[in-house]
Amino acid sequence: MRSQATTSDSELRSKAETIYRLLVEEYGQPTWRLHYDPVSELVLTFLSQNTSDVNSHRSFEQLKARYPTWEAVIAAPTEELADTIRSGGLADIKAPRIWGALQRIQEERGEFNLHFLTDLPLEEAKQWLTSLKGIGPKSAAIVLLFCFGRPLFPVDTHVFRISHRLGFVSPKTSREQTQTVWEALVSADLYYPLHLNLITHGRRVCKAGNPLCAICVLQSHCDWYIGTLANP
Ligand code: SF4
Repeated sequence: MRSQATTSDSELRSKAETIYRLLVEEYGQPTWRLHYDPVSELVLTFLSQNTSDVNSHRSFEQLKARYPTWEAVIAAPTEELADTIRSGGLADIKAPRIWGALQRIQEERGEFNLHFLTDLPLEEAKQWLTSLKGIGPKSAAIVLLFCFGRPLFPVDTHVFRISHRLGFVSPKTSREQTQTVWEALVSADLYYPLHLNLITHGRRVCKAGNPLCAICVLQSHCDWYIGTLANP
Protein backbone atom coordinates (compact mmCIF):
# COMPACT_ATOMS: atom_id res chain seq x y z
CA MET A 1 0.00 0.00 0.00
CA ARG A 2 2.92 2.33 0.61
CA SER A 3 5.61 3.44 -1.76
CA GLN A 4 8.20 3.56 1.00
CA ALA A 5 8.48 0.07 2.40
CA THR A 6 11.19 1.19 4.80
CA THR A 7 9.27 4.12 6.27
CA SER A 8 7.94 3.25 9.71
CA ASP A 9 4.42 4.02 10.87
CA SER A 10 5.72 6.62 13.33
CA GLU A 11 7.75 8.32 10.58
CA LEU A 12 4.70 8.44 8.33
CA ARG A 13 2.56 9.84 11.15
CA SER A 14 5.20 12.47 11.84
CA LYS A 15 5.37 13.33 8.14
CA ALA A 16 1.58 13.61 7.94
CA GLU A 17 1.52 15.99 10.91
CA THR A 18 4.29 18.07 9.34
CA ILE A 19 2.32 18.32 6.11
CA TYR A 20 -0.81 19.28 8.03
CA ARG A 21 1.14 22.04 9.83
CA LEU A 22 2.77 23.37 6.64
CA LEU A 23 -0.57 23.51 4.85
CA VAL A 24 -2.17 25.37 7.77
CA GLU A 25 0.70 27.89 7.63
CA GLU A 26 0.11 28.28 3.91
CA TYR A 27 -3.69 28.26 3.65
CA GLY A 28 -4.93 28.82 7.18
CA GLN A 29 -6.83 26.63 9.62
CA PRO A 30 -10.22 25.53 8.28
CA THR A 31 -12.77 25.11 11.04
CA TRP A 32 -15.73 22.82 10.66
CA ARG A 33 -18.95 24.45 9.54
CA LEU A 34 -22.12 23.15 8.03
CA HIS A 35 -22.01 23.86 4.31
CA TYR A 36 -25.42 22.45 3.35
CA ASP A 37 -28.16 20.52 5.08
CA PRO A 38 -27.53 16.75 4.69
CA VAL A 39 -30.08 16.12 1.92
CA SER A 40 -28.71 19.03 -0.13
CA GLU A 41 -25.14 17.80 0.46
CA LEU A 42 -26.16 14.35 -0.72
CA VAL A 43 -27.75 15.75 -3.88
CA LEU A 44 -24.61 17.85 -4.47
CA THR A 45 -22.39 14.77 -4.22
CA PHE A 46 -24.37 13.24 -7.09
CA LEU A 47 -24.09 16.44 -9.10
CA SER A 48 -20.35 16.81 -8.44
CA GLN A 49 -19.43 13.45 -9.93
CA ASN A 50 -17.18 13.79 -12.99
CA THR A 51 -17.48 17.53 -13.21
CA SER A 52 -16.05 20.72 -11.76
CA ASP A 53 -17.28 22.52 -8.64
CA VAL A 54 -18.47 25.38 -10.82
CA ASN A 55 -20.60 23.07 -12.96
CA SER A 56 -22.00 21.06 -10.07
CA HIS A 57 -22.98 24.16 -8.09
CA ARG A 58 -24.55 25.72 -11.15
CA SER A 59 -26.66 22.62 -11.80
CA PHE A 60 -27.58 22.51 -8.10
CA GLU A 61 -28.80 26.11 -8.27
CA GLN A 62 -30.78 25.31 -11.41
CA LEU A 63 -32.35 22.34 -9.64
CA LYS A 64 -33.32 24.43 -6.61
CA ALA A 65 -34.65 27.23 -8.81
CA ARG A 66 -36.95 24.90 -10.73
CA TYR A 67 -38.07 22.77 -7.78
CA PRO A 68 -38.68 24.67 -4.53
CA THR A 69 -39.00 21.45 -2.50
CA TRP A 70 -37.64 17.90 -2.61
CA GLU A 71 -41.26 16.73 -2.99
CA ALA A 72 -41.36 18.67 -6.25
CA VAL A 73 -38.20 16.91 -7.44
CA ILE A 74 -39.59 13.41 -6.98
CA ALA A 75 -42.92 14.48 -8.48
CA ALA A 76 -41.13 15.50 -11.67
CA PRO A 77 -40.42 13.12 -14.57
CA THR A 78 -36.76 12.07 -14.50
CA GLU A 79 -36.38 13.32 -18.10
CA GLU A 80 -37.35 16.80 -16.94
CA LEU A 81 -35.04 16.51 -13.95
CA ALA A 82 -32.21 15.50 -16.29
CA ASP A 83 -32.85 18.50 -18.51
CA THR A 84 -32.73 20.76 -15.45
CA ILE A 85 -29.28 19.56 -14.37
CA ARG A 86 -27.86 19.01 -17.84
CA SER A 87 -25.20 21.73 -17.51
CA GLY A 88 -23.43 19.57 -14.88
CA GLY A 89 -22.86 16.65 -17.26
CA LEU A 90 -23.96 12.98 -17.14
CA ALA A 91 -27.49 14.24 -16.46
CA ASP A 92 -29.21 11.08 -17.72
CA ILE A 93 -27.27 9.05 -15.14
CA LYS A 94 -27.41 11.53 -12.27
CA ALA A 95 -31.13 12.40 -12.52
CA PRO A 96 -32.48 8.89 -11.82
CA ARG A 97 -29.93 8.45 -9.03
CA ILE A 98 -30.98 11.69 -7.33
CA TRP A 99 -34.62 10.79 -7.81
CA GLY A 100 -34.03 7.28 -6.40
CA ALA A 101 -32.16 8.56 -3.35
CA LEU A 102 -34.83 11.16 -2.52
CA GLN A 103 -37.59 8.61 -3.03
CA ARG A 104 -35.89 6.19 -0.65
CA ILE A 105 -35.33 8.85 2.00
CA GLN A 106 -38.99 9.79 1.93
CA GLU A 107 -40.15 6.17 1.98
CA GLU A 108 -37.88 5.16 4.85
CA ARG A 109 -37.93 8.31 6.95
CA GLY A 110 -41.31 9.79 6.08
CA GLU A 111 -39.61 13.12 5.38
CA PHE A 112 -36.59 14.54 3.61
CA ASN A 113 -34.28 14.34 6.57
CA LEU A 114 -31.04 12.43 7.19
CA HIS A 115 -30.50 13.34 10.83
CA PHE A 116 -30.81 9.69 11.84
CA LEU A 117 -27.21 9.40 10.53
CA THR A 118 -26.00 11.50 13.48
CA ASP A 119 -26.30 8.69 15.99
CA LEU A 120 -26.11 5.62 13.81
CA PRO A 121 -22.91 3.60 14.35
CA LEU A 122 -20.37 4.86 11.83
CA GLU A 123 -20.15 1.64 9.81
CA GLU A 124 -23.95 1.45 9.58
CA ALA A 125 -24.14 5.08 8.50
CA LYS A 126 -21.56 4.42 5.77
CA GLN A 127 -23.41 1.29 4.68
CA TRP A 128 -26.74 3.09 4.50
CA LEU A 129 -25.31 5.84 2.30
CA THR A 130 -23.33 3.51 0.04
CA SER A 131 -26.43 1.39 -0.47
CA LEU A 132 -27.82 4.33 -2.47
CA LYS A 133 -27.12 3.83 -6.14
CA GLY A 134 -24.27 6.15 -7.19
CA ILE A 135 -22.93 6.83 -3.68
CA GLY A 136 -19.46 5.39 -3.05
CA PRO A 137 -17.13 5.64 -0.04
CA LYS A 138 -15.92 9.15 -0.94
CA SER A 139 -19.42 10.58 -1.29
CA ALA A 140 -20.54 8.87 1.93
CA ALA A 141 -17.51 10.26 3.74
CA ILE A 142 -18.24 13.78 2.46
CA VAL A 143 -21.84 13.71 3.70
CA LEU A 144 -20.89 12.24 7.08
CA LEU A 145 -17.89 14.51 7.68
CA PHE A 146 -19.31 17.73 6.27
CA CYS A 147 -22.84 17.45 7.66
CA PHE A 148 -22.36 15.54 10.89
CA GLY A 149 -18.67 15.98 11.76
CA ARG A 150 -18.23 12.20 11.75
CA PRO A 151 -14.62 10.97 11.65
CA LEU A 152 -14.01 10.06 8.02
CA PHE A 153 -11.35 11.29 5.59
CA PRO A 154 -12.84 11.71 2.10
CA VAL A 155 -10.37 11.05 -0.71
CA ASP A 156 -11.24 13.00 -3.83
CA THR A 157 -9.11 13.31 -6.94
CA HIS A 158 -6.82 15.99 -5.40
CA VAL A 159 -6.28 14.17 -2.11
CA PHE A 160 -5.64 10.93 -3.98
CA ARG A 161 -3.05 12.47 -6.33
CA ILE A 162 -1.18 14.30 -3.57
CA SER A 163 -1.20 11.24 -1.28
CA HIS A 164 0.55 9.30 -3.99
CA ARG A 165 3.05 12.03 -4.86
CA LEU A 166 3.96 12.64 -1.23
CA GLY A 167 4.59 8.93 -0.76
CA PHE A 168 1.82 7.94 1.63
CA VAL A 169 0.42 5.38 -0.80
CA SER A 170 1.64 3.57 -3.89
CA PRO A 171 0.16 4.14 -7.36
CA LYS A 172 -1.72 0.84 -7.03
CA THR A 173 -3.48 1.84 -3.82
CA SER A 174 -7.20 2.40 -4.29
CA ARG A 175 -8.97 5.55 -3.15
CA GLU A 176 -10.77 3.53 -0.50
CA GLN A 177 -7.46 2.20 0.86
CA THR A 178 -6.03 5.72 0.76
CA GLN A 179 -8.91 6.87 2.97
CA THR A 180 -8.03 4.12 5.46
CA VAL A 181 -4.35 5.17 5.40
CA TRP A 182 -5.16 8.79 6.23
CA GLU A 183 -7.63 7.82 8.94
CA ALA A 184 -4.87 5.80 10.62
CA LEU A 185 -2.14 8.43 10.17
CA VAL A 186 -3.71 11.54 11.68
CA SER A 187 -6.07 12.15 14.56
CA ALA A 188 -9.75 12.55 13.77
CA ASP A 189 -9.77 16.26 14.57
CA LEU A 190 -7.40 16.80 11.64
CA TYR A 191 -9.53 15.00 9.04
CA TYR A 192 -11.64 18.01 8.09
CA PRO A 193 -8.91 20.70 7.98
CA LEU A 194 -6.36 18.44 6.31
CA HIS A 195 -8.84 17.21 3.72
CA LEU A 196 -9.78 20.80 2.81
CA ASN A 197 -6.20 22.06 2.72
CA LEU A 198 -5.05 19.15 0.55
CA ILE A 199 -7.80 20.04 -1.91
CA THR A 200 -6.72 23.69 -1.89
CA HIS A 201 -3.13 22.60 -2.46
CA GLY A 202 -4.18 20.33 -5.31
CA ARG A 203 -6.09 23.13 -7.01
CA ARG A 204 -3.47 25.83 -6.59
CA VAL A 205 -0.09 24.09 -6.58
CA CYS A 206 0.01 20.29 -6.88
CA LYS A 207 -2.03 20.31 -10.08
CA ALA A 208 -2.67 17.12 -11.99
CA GLY A 209 -0.84 17.91 -15.20
CA ASN A 210 1.66 20.53 -14.18
CA PRO A 211 2.50 20.62 -10.46
CA LEU A 212 4.14 23.88 -9.41
CA CYS A 213 6.89 22.17 -7.41
CA ALA A 214 9.16 25.22 -7.46
CA ILE A 215 6.78 27.10 -5.16
CA CYS A 216 5.50 24.14 -3.14
CA VAL A 217 5.85 24.26 0.65
CA LEU A 218 5.82 20.45 0.77
CA GLN A 219 8.78 20.08 -1.56
CA SER A 220 11.26 18.66 0.96
CA HIS A 221 8.67 16.08 2.12
CA CYS A 222 7.54 14.95 -1.33
CA ASP A 223 8.73 11.57 -2.59
CA TRP A 224 7.82 12.44 -6.15
CA TYR A 225 9.79 15.70 -6.11
CA ILE A 226 12.79 14.19 -4.33
CA GLY A 227 12.79 11.13 -6.56
CA THR A 228 12.37 12.87 -9.91
CA LEU A 229 12.90 16.61 -10.06
CA ALA A 230 15.50 17.01 -7.31
CA ASN A 231 17.49 13.96 -8.46
CA PRO A 232 17.04 13.72 -12.25
S1 SF4 B 1 6.62 19.08 -4.62
FE1 SF4 B 1 5.40 19.05 -6.50
S2 SF4 B 1 4.51 16.98 -6.65
FE2 SF4 B 1 5.23 17.29 -4.54
S3 SF4 B 1 3.43 18.00 -3.39
FE3 SF4 B 1 4.56 19.81 -4.08
S4 SF4 B 1 3.64 20.36 -6.07
FE4 SF4 B 1 3.01 18.26 -5.58
